[in-house]
Amino acid sequence: MAELKLTTRAEDFSEWYNQVVLRAELADYAPVRGCMIVRPYGWALWENITAALDKRFKATGHVNAAFPLLIPQSFIAKEQSHVEGFSPELAVVTHGGGEKLEEPLVIRPTSETIIGHAYAKWIQSYRDLPILINQWNSVVRWELRTKLFLRTLEFFWQEGHTAHATPEEAEAETRQMLDVYTDFAVNEAAVPVIPGRKSAAERFAGADQTYSIEAMMGDGKALQAGTSHNLGQNFAKAFDIKYLDKNGVLQHCWTTSWGLSTRFVGAIIMVHGDDQGLIMPPRLAPYQAVIVPIFKTDEERATVFETAERLRKELADAGVRVKVDLREGMSPGFKFNDWEMRGVPLRIELGPKDVAKGSVVLARRDRPGKEGKSFVPQAGIGATVTAALEEIQKALHDRALEFRKANTTETSDYEEFKKAVEKGFALSWWCGSSDCEAKIKEETKATMRCIPLDQEGATGKCVYCEQAARDKAIFAKAY
Ligand SMILES: [Zn+2]
Repeated sequence: MAELKLTTRAEDFSEWYNQVVLRAELADYAPVRGCMIVRPYGWALWENITAALDKRFKATGHVNAAFPLLIPQSFIAKEQSHVEGFSPELAVVTHGGGEKLEEPLVIRPTSETIIGHAYAKWIQSYRDLPILINQWNSVVRWELRTKLFLRTLEFFWQEGHTAHATPEEAEAETRQMLDVYTDFAVNEAAVPVIPGRKSAAERFAGADQTYSIEAMMGDGKALQAGTSHNLGQNFAKAFDIKYLDKNGVLQHCWTTSWGLSTRFVGAIIMVHGDDQGLIMPPRLAPYQAVIVPIFKTDEERATVFETAERLRKELADAGVRVKVDLREGMSPGFKFNDWEMRGVPLRIELGPKDVAKGSVVLARRDRPGKEGKSFVPQAGIGATVTAALEEIQKALHDRALEFRKANTTETSDYEEFKKAVEKGFALSWWCGSSDCEAKIKEETKATMRCIPLDQEGATGKCVYCEQAARDKAIFAKAY
């Protein structure tokens, strides 16, 4: 069968990305421009992401709930910077039940306002605090330039919304959830991230402080992979979320919100993928291993299938997400390419000779060709495969981290800075002025991604204006 080769990443990274998403059957275009259909393989990946996060949310005391999709338009207008931030992106429902509505409804761009409304009713006293709620849903933001998973009109995510009695508690919650995202990205997705603080210009509309995790994609650009906001008392004041403190004094609550979306699927594709297609991190892979039976005669087919089924069962019992590729009318070579494209971490080849010898061929997706192949005994296959998956998980993380380091330039020279953001991240002193940030953006198209949390405590000179600077910041072109 004639195989269309993928565009290489060096030729056109953006086109490579589109082809991988479509051909690996992660998602498809929808009839409404900017929307996406998430196909079963893409959704299985998202389900594994949600499971890994949900477990962490619950372990930190959060519970799930569901709030409505439709929000009165007046709610959005209650918090001034929120309305300014989101107005251009709102989808507004003006008709329902065949009639013009008295008050238009907006489809949530985020649930901040409707949750503020509910919390105002639910919270009376300090005994009601903290409230630690998360919800899994989709939101709509009317984006003009869209790209599957990275920026779509409707996307899927989780949004956590918490209310606290003190600013310290709210800040601790905001930081805790940033840590949860960091832990998830590094340990589940094998995506190294830089946790940090956003500049005022890059903050969430209505937040006092926004933190994010930033990852470097395979083309050197940045992707904001998760955010955590300390909303201060802004929404509590706009929605009258108050509690009686221990002294009987009425106080406004301190609230937070935090989210991670289907954009993260885009991050996984762009961090790990190569010119053959996707590479799934084993802990999140829908299939961690695929067994491809190889045979010519009916007799061989029978013995190979029997062994394949026995191995499948042993692997499943060992907790491995495994599939036997029983598709007919396709050559083993075609199947190898197909699973390579879809990024399955381990391929297990099984032919009549392997059956006779009691062995299989393991082929690692992260090391294409001979280098990644090994013959292993069928006995103990569960333990062998589990160990190999752990090795791949670690190798993917280490490779991505090496790549980021190799493409990050620490520079205090603006000419050097301009070159650095053409190929990757620049880590540079920044004086804190929005003017410098805006000029850098205008002149280089690089935005300030974050001020990394781990600063050495030294001081320097702003890369743009050369005034005194206390913090180093990451600048990069971004998705
Ligand atoms: Zn400056």
